[in-house]
Amino acid sequence: MSEGAAKNEEKPSKFQAIRGTRDLLPPETALWNRVEQTAHEIFATFGFGEIRIPIFEQTDLFARSIGLDTDVVSKEMYTFEDRDETSVSLRPEATASVCRAYIEHGMQQLPQPVKLYYMGPMFRRERPQKGRYRQFYQIGAEVLGGSDAPAIDAEVIEMVMTFFDRLELQGVQLDINSIGCRECRPKYVELLRAELLRVKDKLGPDSQRRIETNPLRVLDSKLESEQGIIATLPHIADHLCEACATHYSAVKHQLEMRGILFRENWRLVRGLDYYMRTTFEITAQGLGSQNAVCGGGRYDGLVELLGGPPTKGIGFAIGEDRLILSLQESGKAPAQQGRDVYIAWMGERAHATAIRAAKDLRKAGFSVELPAVEQKFGKALGQADKLGAKHALILGDNEVSEGLWTLKTLADGSQQKLTEPQLLDFLRKL
Ligand code: AMP
Repeated sequence: MSEGAAKNEEKPSKFQAIRGTRDLLPPETALWNRVEQTAHEIFATFGFGEIRIPIFEQTDLFARSIGLDTDVVSKEMYTFEDRDETSVSLRPEATASVCRAYIEHGMQQLPQPVKLYYMGPMFRRERPQKGRYRQFYQIGAEVLGGSDAPAIDAEVIEMVMTFFDRLELQGVQLDINSIGCRECRPKYVELLRAELLRVKDKLGPDSQRRIETNPLRVLDSKLESEQGIIATLPHIADHLCEACATHYSAVKHQLEMRGILFRENWRLVRGLDYYMRTTFEITAQGLGSQNAVCGGGRYDGLVELLGGPPTKGIGFAIGEDRLILSLQESGKAPAQQGRDVYIAWMGERAHATAIRAAKDLRKAGFSVELPAVEQKFGKALGQADKLGAKHALILGDNEVSEGLWTLKTLADGSQQKLTEPQLLDFLRKL
């Protein structure tokens, strides 16, 4: 075929990851693994066990728990009709599924409270930007059953803070609030609605709509022009019933007993309907406007709403993407996935020795790169350097017949001759 003909032939179109989704690649995935490993370790020390729940559920589960008027349910869920005509949705969060599982498996029969954690992808059709994706990852935990003792709220918060501390997350700020219960919150919401109606024309269209659907969410507004008005609105703390006020002050006391610094933020409400009493949010540095890395709160009554027995509940969800971004911004990310040893071999006999050496070194836990084809030593050393290898093991005919291998340390160029046991010994001591 002539060159011209080849050019005219249509190339198959390329694929791209769907907007709002992305590939996570090495070396970044090493950081993801470190974060997840740390979560497994820390959460286990608090007595939490891992639960793995399905990626999709009946749409109704989310509609009933998260709330029909929330952004998440009204416009962000990936919902489709299954072949048997049931409506299913990709999970936009995991609390509803964990509660469903608690009921489905009769976990109220277990010693209470049941402490569970999860990690994995969630799906919301939001406008993508830095720190906001349509497929994003959460690490979260739930405490279900038992009492609503303020010490539980505080311990859950302590667990997240311990996790962040272990990861050396920078600029961590914990905000807390109480949004009352079924008794006192509706009264406050009505008061708020009345106040908002009086200043309706000064509010933007989103807030105007929320006066009807969800007045609490107006407090969340970041619109510059609304800040002055919001500052004059009544605070929920002044309208909590006695039980909620007592609970809130006990939570604060419990946090102080644990040495956890917090800021009270009366405007902190959460976007999902099921929350009551304690709510909290944690922000971290380096994230711009999407700086919330964790949101959580108490949701007594949610299990009941989903058809289970009356059950207390509290939990949180950490945005793993944002956590990783913040760690990267503060230089806590591994630069490259290096190799301990790059084996530069030449000749058939050396290849056989190299294969055996690689096996032994890997068995001892070292990361080894064994090139598949023979290369000149100069080229092999260049390759070792590019891969960020710490050492190059040079195996040629001489080395194999002498039984003395050459190990070159790439950082300083030093070289030494070692027998195989000496080599393992030397690497182990580093
Ligand atoms: P929520 O489930 O809405 O309470 O969110 C809990 C945490 O998940 C937030 O603080 C964020 O860190 C993270 N998060 C929520 N939505 C997204 C998203 N679209 N992209 C990335 N992270 C998100």
